[in-house]
Amino acid sequence: METILVLAHTEPDGSLAKSAREALHAARTLNKSLAGSSLVVGLVGENVQAAADSIAACPATKYFGVAGKDFAPSRYASDAAAAEAICKSAQATIVVAPATSRWARVLPGVAQRLGGRADTHVTGVADAGGKPAINRWYYRQRMEATLTRAQRPWFILVDPGSQAACECGAGAAKVETVTVNLPESGKRTTVVGIREPKADAQTIRPDAELLFVTGAGWTKKQADGQTHVPEAEKHIRGFLQLSRASLGSSKSLVDQGGEGQAVLSFLSHLNQIGQTGSTPRHPKGLSTCCHGEEPHTVGWRFIAERRAISLDPNCGWARGKADVLYVADAFAVMGKVNELLAAGK
Ligand SMILES: Cc1cc2nc3c(=O)[nH]c(=O)nc-3n(C[C@H](O)[C@H](O)[C@H](O)COP(=O)(O)OP(=O)(O)OC[C@H]3O[C@@H](n4cnc5c(N)ncnc54)[C@H](O)[C@@H]3O)c2cc1C
Repeated sequence: METILVLAHTEPDGSLAKSAREALHAARTLNKSLAGSSLVVGLVGENVQAAADSIAACPATKYFGVAGKDFAPSRYASDAAAAEAICKSAQATIVVAPATSRWARVLPGVAQRLGGRADTHVTGVADAGGKPAINRWYYRQRMEATLTRAQRPWFILVDPGSQAACECGAGAAKVETVTVNLPESGKRTTVVGIREPKADAQTIRPDAELLFVTGAGWTKKQADGQTHVPEAEKHIRGFLQLSRASLGSSKSLVDQGGEGQAVLSFLSHLNQIGQTGSTPRHPKGLSTCCHGEEPHTVGWRFIAERRAISLDPNCGWARGKADVLYVADAFAVMGKVNELLAAGK
C-alpha cells in the first residue's frame, strides 16, 4: 500500500504557493487511482499552521510539520534534514513535491539518503495498471515518456504550471510536529537578503495568460532602409505593461546583445525560448518579427494557442507551427494593438 506524501515549503508570509497546490492535485490524482493508498501532507517553514489550515479540506489524513526560524530560509542542510525527518515520520513511499528551486536542489539528495529515487520535471501522474506512473519529456520536449519505478521512496518533483491547482478549501488542520535537532553545521549558511528586479522590470511571468515573443526582425532594417530600435522598445514595453504578458525571445535577438549591436535593453538570455532556451507554459502565445524555425518553436511545445506576426509568408509559422499567421508589419500591428489596449478596448 502506498503512502503518498505531499511535501511543500511555505512562502515567506506563511502561505502556500500555487505550485504546492498543483503538487497536491497531482498527489490526489495518484491517491484516487491507487486502491488502498493514503494521502498525507508534510510542511516545512517558519510557521506551518496557516498553510496547513489553508488546505485543511483536502482528503489528506495526516499533517506533519517541521517549523521554526531555522527552517524559514531556503538552505540545503536544514531543508534536507526537515524533508528527511518528515518522510521518515510519515513512512512515505511516494513523495510528491513542487519543483520549486528550493525543493529541486534538495530532494534528489534526500532520496539518496533514504535509499530512494527521484524524478524531476514531471508533467503528469497516472495509474499504469494499478502501479503509479509519471510522465515527463525528453530531448528538449520532443519525446514524452511514461515511467514507473519499483524503488521506494519515490520522489516526484512536479513542474510548476503543468497541473491544475487543487482548490480544496480551508479549515482547521491538526499538525503533528516533527522535531529536527539541527546541528550547528547545518546553520552555517545564512540568507542575508534577496536581490530581485523591480516588479516592473521583471519580464518573465510564468503565470501570465500570454507569452509575447520578440524576434530579431525588431532590430532589422525596415522598408525605409533604417532600423527602428527605440520604436521597437516602445512598442514592446508598452504591450508588456498593458497586457502583463510574459516576454520571450528568439536566440538571434538575445545573442545580439553579446555581439555589441543595438538591442532591446530589457532582454537577457533568460528570455530565450527554444531548444537551448526555455519551454514555458502559457495558454496563448504571440510571436512577433521571428522566423519560427524549429530550434525556436520546439520551446513552444506547451503553448496551447499560437499566433505569429511576420512579414514573411513562407516563415516557419506558416508551415504548421502557428494556428494563425498574420503576414503584416509588427510595428504597425503592435502600435495599433497598444492604442486599443490603452483605450480599454
Ligand atoms: C543548436 C542550435 C540551437 C538553437 N537554439 C535556439 C533556441 O533555443 N531558441 C531560438 O530562438 N533559436 C535557436 N536557434 C537559432 C534558430 O535556428 C534561429 O536562427 C533563430 O530562432 C532565428 O531568430 P529570429 O527568427 O528572431 O531571426 P530571423 O531568422 O532573422 O527572422 C527575423 C524575422 O523577422 C521578420 N520581420 C522583420 N521585420 C519585420 C516586421 N516589421 N514585422 C514582422 N516581421 C518582421 C522577418 O521576415 C524574419 O522572418 C538555435 C540554433 C541552433 C543551430
